[in-house]
Amino acid sequence: MKCSKVFDLAIIGSGIGGTLIAALNQDKKIIVFEKDKNVGGCASTFKRFGNYYNAGATTFMGYEEGHIIKKMFDSIGFYPNIKKSQTAIRVIQGSTVIDRQTNFEAFLEQIQRAYPNQNNRKFWQTIKEIDEKFWQLKHIYYSKKNLTSYLKSAWFFLHLLKTYKLTLFKSAQSFIETTLGKISREYENFINAQLLITVQSTYQTIPLLSMALGLAYPFHKVYYVNGGMGSLIESLLKEINVHTQEEVVSVYKDKKFYRIITNKQEYCAYKVVLNSTVYDSGKLFVQENIQNYYQKFSLHDQSAFVLYMTLQSQEEFLHHYQIILDKTIPHTISNHFFVSFSDQYDEKLSKNGYSITISCHTKALFWKELNQNEYQEKKSETQEYLVQAFFDHFKTLQRQNMVCCFSATSKTFQHYTHRLNCGGNKLSLKTFLSLPCVSTPFDGLYNVGDTLFSGQGWPGVALGVEILNQELNE
Ligand SMILES: Cc1cc2nc3c(=O)[nH]c(=O)nc-3n(C[C@H](O)[C@H](O)[C@H](O)COP(=O)(O)OP(=O)(O)OC[C@H]3O[C@@H](n4cnc5c(N)ncnc54)[C@H](O)[C@@H]3O)c2cc1C
Repeated sequence: MKCSKVFDLAIIGSGIGGTLIAALNQDKKIIVFEKDKNVGGCASTFKRFGNYYNAGATTFMGYEEGHIIKKMFDSIGFYPNIKKSQTAIRVIQGSTVIDRQTNFEAFLEQIQRAYPNQNNRKFWQTIKEIDEKFWQLKHIYYSKKNLTSYLKSAWFFLHLLKTYKLTLFKSAQSFIETTLGKISREYENFINAQLLITVQSTYQTIPLLSMALGLAYPFHKVYYVNGGMGSLIESLLKEINVHTQEEVVSVYKDKKFYRIITNKQEYCAYKVVLNSTVYDSGKLFVQENIQNYYQKFSLHDQSAFVLYMTLQSQEEFLHHYQIILDKTIPHTISNHFFVSFSDQYDEKLSKNGYSITISCHTKALFWKELNQNEYQEKKSETQEYLVQAFFDHFKTLQRQNMVCCFSATSKTFQHYTHRLNCGGNKLSLKTFLSLPCVSTPFDGLYNVGDTLFSGQGWPGVALGVEILNQELNE
C-alpha cells in the first residue's frame, strides 16, 4: 500500500523526551503527535477555571556550563525564559528548616545544626563530588540493540569503573552506615524525602551513585520557568510540526517504514520514537513480537497525587518547599509533600493569585482499582488532608483566600498524559541488563522518556535523549 504522508522521523508524545529529541532533529522531516491539547505531558502547563497550573514538573535544572541540557539548548540556539530560584528547595521538618542551595558551606552549617554528625562534611562532600564527576563524563552510552551497542555499553561501564573505582559497587545504605553511622529517624526521613522526589526511591534500595545524583540535585542551579513549564516545551517545539489532540492508536511495521494510524489519519515514517511509557507502548503495535518485547517490562507501580490551587496573597514566597510530616498522608506512600508557588511576577501563572502545585507519591494501581464511590471518597480525603497540612504550615495564609482547588490521581494522569505511573524501575547493577533502553531490537524503533533506565525529570530524561540522538544519527 502506498503512503502519501512520509516522514523521516515520527515522535509519539511531546513530553520532555519527545520534545528534546524533536528539537535536536529539526533538520529532518519530522512529525510529533500529542494526544492532549497541551504539550509537555508531566511537564505541561494547563488552564482550568481560568487559571494556569503546572501539571507536575515545576523545577528546571541543568542549564549550566558543561551540563547536557545547556549543551543541547546551545546547539540549537535556544535560550529559555527562566529565573534562578534564590533557594532551590526549603525543607521544613517540624521546627527544623533546611535550605537546599548551591552554597555548600551554608547548607552544611544548617545540616550540622539540624542533624549533628562529625562526618556530615565527609558525607555531603562525597555526594557532591560523585555527582560532579558524573556530569563531567564524556560519551555517556547505554544501549542493547546489537553486538556493537553491547560493546559500546561495556566500554562506557569500564569508563564508569575507571572514574568511580569501587565506589561504583557501593550501596547507598552501606555508605550511610560507614560514614554517618546510625542516623536518627528524622535525618533518615530528610534524606529519603529528597530521594523520593529526585530518583523515586529510598536510600535502602539504591546504589550510592543514584543516591549521589538524587541528593546533589539542589547543589545545581534550580530555575523557575516563566509562564509555566509548558511554556518551555512550547518554545522548544515552536518551529516543529506538532499535531496536538492527535492520538496514535496503532502502529504497524511494514517492510520499508512504520505505518502510524492516529484518530485522524494515517502516516508513514522510516523511524519512530515512542515517548509513551515502555509499559504502554506495546499496546500500540499490531505485530506480536513487538508487543511481546514491551510486555517484558514490569510496571513501576508509583505515581503522584497532585493538588492544584489558586490562592490570593500579597506575601512573598520561595518557589519550592518540601514539608516533611511525622506520618503518612492518607492513601499515599509519602510522609512529605512538595509545594511549588508560581513566581509573584509571572504574569500568566500568577494573574489571579499564586498558582500552587502540591504533590506527593502514591501507588499508581491503588487508584485504578477502586470503584467510583471509593475513588471519590478517598480522593477527597487525601485532598482535604493536604489542604489542611498546607495551611498548617503556611500559617499566614488564609483558607478563604483560596480561589480554586482541585486534585489529580494516577487515573487523572492516565486520562491527560496517557500514563498511569511516574518514572521507571531503578537502575542498579542487578537491573543493568534487564532495563529498557533507547534502542529496541526492531530497526528504526526507539524509546525515550522517564521509564527508561536513566530516570526522572529533566536531567534523567535528557541523558536518554543524548544517547538516542547518537543512535538516530550514527
Ligand atoms: C507531580 C510531579 C512532579 C514532578 N516534578 C518534577 C520537577 O520539579 N522537575 C523535574 O525535572 N521533573 C519533575 N517530575 C518528573 C517529570 O515531570 C517527568 O519525569 C517527565 O516530565 C517525563 O517526561 P517524558 O519524556 O517521560 O514524557 P511524559 O511526561 O510521559 O509525556 C509523554 C507524552 O506522550 C503523550 N502520548 C503518550 N501516548 C501517546 C499516543 N499514543 N499518542 C499521542 N500522544 C501520546 C502523552 O499524552 C504525554 O504528553 C515530576 C513529575 C510529576 C508527576
